Amino acid sequence: MRALTPNGTAGGAAKGAVVAMPKRTRFANTRSGFDYLIVGAGFAGSVLAERLATELDKRVLLIDRRPHIAGNAYDHYNDAGLLIHRYGPHIFHTNSTQVVNYLSRFTKWRPYEHKVLAHVDEQLVPIPINLTTLEKLYGLKLTPEDAEAFLKSKAEPVAEIRTSEDVVVGAVGRELYEKFFRGYTRKQWGLDPSELDKSVTSRVPTRTNTDDRYFGDSFQSMPLHGYTRMFENMLDHPNIKVMLNTDFEEVRTEVQYDKLIYSGPIDEYFDFRFGKLPYRSLQFRHETVEQENFQPVAVVNYPSEDVAYTRITEYKHLTGQVNPRTSLTYEYPAADGDPYYPVPRPENAELYRKYQALADATPDVTFVGRLGTYRYYNMDQVVGQALALFKRIEETEKSESGLARAARSMARVNGTVRAEAAQGAGD
Ligand SMILES: Cc1cc2nc3c(=O)[nH]c(=O)nc-3n(C[C@H](O)[C@H](O)[C@H](O)COP(=O)(O)OP(=O)(O)OC[C@H]3O[C@@H](n4cnc5c(N)ncnc54)[C@H](O)[C@@H]3O)c2cc1C
Repeated sequence: MRALTPNGTAGGAAKGAVVAMPKRTRFANTRSGFDYLIVGAGFAGSVLAERLATELDKRVLLIDRRPHIAGNAYDHYNDAGLLIHRYGPHIFHTNSTQVVNYLSRFTKWRPYEHKVLAHVDEQLVPIPINLTTLEKLYGLKLTPEDAEAFLKSKAEPVAEIRTSEDVVVGAVGRELYEKFFRGYTRKQWGLDPSELDKSVTSRVPTRTNTDDRYFGDSFQSMPLHGYTRMFENMLDHPNIKVMLNTDFEEVRTEVQYDKLIYSGPIDEYFDFRFGKLPYRSLQFRHETVEQENFQPVAVVNYPSEDVAYTRITEYKHLTGQVNPRTSLTYEYPAADGDPYYPVPRPENAELYRKYQALADATPDVTFVGRLGTYRYYNMDQVVGQALALFKRIEETEKSESGLARAARSMARVNGTVRAEAAQGAGD
């Protein structure tokens, strides 16, 4: 990775250091231009920068308006020496071998299976709801068959599953829905589950065994030295220049580039022509406490609407770090702030389709990532999306350069023919 210095020349980014760029940057020496300008140094932008530089030898300028790389997955060591995630806990899990193989070039892994407890009825019980959850809440001793029958007896028939409320009430009944989902969803989205698309709660399974893992994916691990280090390794290529603290608006007319890849918000790119795409945001309160451990698992959910935050994360569980203190993050959902979660409602999907049509009519710009496509994606999905997009770019680049080669050789042939003709004429 090469970071541009304030006079626009390339300077090496120290390994392990976060590259912070001053706000004002001149581009005097970048006039020679780049093959690609990539907006956003999160997974989408960084994977594409790496692939284009490594595989196609393209010169890439990667910019981000934040003061760091890694997008929402950014992590760093705090004053207590604990590795924390600035934008809330990011747990890596996937079923894609292709994605694991790709990322494993840039990181080793620490096996970690995510566990979440929910604070319900004054106790901590597993979520997703499983056999243990039911036993603890109802003081029962159950076999998996009993648990299944118990949930069936609680479930309410729902004629057509449309909303997030329908999904849960249809699977586990109203009582468990109210204990675990209603308050949490209302806090998280500022909307009642009955107003939200079914996709929001469909992501959380219900189990009748004692499996208490949050995810069922075949690969569940954390980057051994954190996400930021993984991104630094990914971007450590002489063809990649990174500029931080740099908004697209500041450089769009100042830098020369052939092609643009944009992983920022699609509505912002088009100056909010049809209005703003709604997002739900979060405020994070990071805290380090003078005790070795705080809670039994990495994340504890607080579904009650009497508590303002939705969950508390304790990072030591993700990293295995040993320290007399421990670092936590409290998450407070918010209407305003950084765009985190696209709000899945039909009218928003409709609005996005309008922007998508504009994007389709703008062939020299490619929109990627969760903000570029207004969809909630997990990290592995964004990596998969970026790798698939790279394949398409590679094919186009190859056919374009094949055409250019053919045109050049045709020009040579034509030149030879003309020269021969001229010679012939002189004979
Ligand atoms: C609280 C939270 C928790 C999550 N937890 C998980 C998890 O546990 N597991 C999981 O797999 N996924 C998780 N995710 C999803 C994960 O964050 C995304 O999949 C991933 O960040 C998407 O990468 P991206 O490159 O599309 O977007 P981002 O990471 O958001 O990167 C986009 C970048 O573009 C920059 N940018 C935008 N506009 C401009 C502009 N105009 N000029 C310059 N730069 C710009 C932004 O600053 C940003 O850094 C979570 C998301 C959130 C919000």
